[in-house]
Amino acid sequence: MSDTTMKRFRVSANKAVDLDDWSTNDTLGWDKESAKEELVDVIDQMAFLQHRLMAEADQSLLIVLQGRDASGKDGLVRHVMTGMNPAGVRVVSFKVPAGVEKQHDYLWRCHAAVPARGVVGVWNRSHYEDIVVPRVKRLVPEEVWRARYRHVRDFERMLVDEGTTILKFYLHVSHEVQRQRLQKRIDNPESSWKHDPSDISDRKMWSSFQTAYEDVLRETSRPHAPWYVIPADVKWVRDLAVAKIVLEALVLMDPRLPAPQDDLKGVTVI
Ligand code: ADP
Repeated sequence: MSDTTMKRFRVSANKAVDLDDWSTNDTLGWDKESAKEELVDVIDQMAFLQHRLMAEADQSLLIVLQGRDASGKDGLVRHVMTGMNPAGVRVVSFKVPAGVEKQHDYLWRCHAAVPARGVVGVWNRSHYEDIVVPRVKRLVPEEVWRARYRHVRDFERMLVDEGTTILKFYLHVSHEVQRQRLQKRIDNPESSWKHDPSDISDRKMWSSFQTAYEDVLRETSRPHAPWYVIPADVKWVRDLAVAKIVLEALVLMDPRLPAPQDDLKGVTVI
């Protein structure tokens, strides 16, 4: 299996990132109908390897999803991650820290949510909120959020050394498509409950968030824990691109079924 999808979207370590140079609406030469068919096949293969990952119970996979409001993090979980056996998937959504979370360092809740061996962890938002939000909203002094680049690099390095594969996806949505999705969400009674006034106030700080994300991508994309910038204006492109990268990672992880505990030759169940 080639790793072309991985390479195409991967952010190089230490290289300046200008998100305006990254497409939000590229369809990558794919067409919708065949992409949908391919997604079914890719999810099938993911599920096959996830079964082996669970059986092997030695490595884990952590998938980090970041992106603007309405960039499609929830949709991706629904369309792609649910193809795997839920018994071996742990989805965690990180909200504004509250209660006991505020009594600890910011990585405390994240470390507790790291997938166990054999499990695929999907983080809908993550420790990266603790860099981007405090920076943009000026909640802490610069030296505090800036030191976090180093903390998260070290944290992720440790997780990888201990057997976790990490994939980080930035779902890259345009200003206009975000507007359309937020409007649609408000107008539709089935989804208006999701509307959060902070989506509108955060949208007003679009360029500050963009700068903060660009710095995060440059500072924390590393070969062992890379960031992928995924064009997210077109949902079926987003889903297939992420699914292919997850599959490629699972193939590289190469999980193996454990050998039977005993010689089963001639064993009959009575
Ligand atoms: P979502 O928008 O992901 O569907 P919510 O509407 O509950 O879910 O929003 C979660 C909110 O929590 C977002 O505005 C996000 O920026 C915020 N958040 C998450 N983690 C942190 C953090 N560590 N610090 C500040 N804000 C955070």
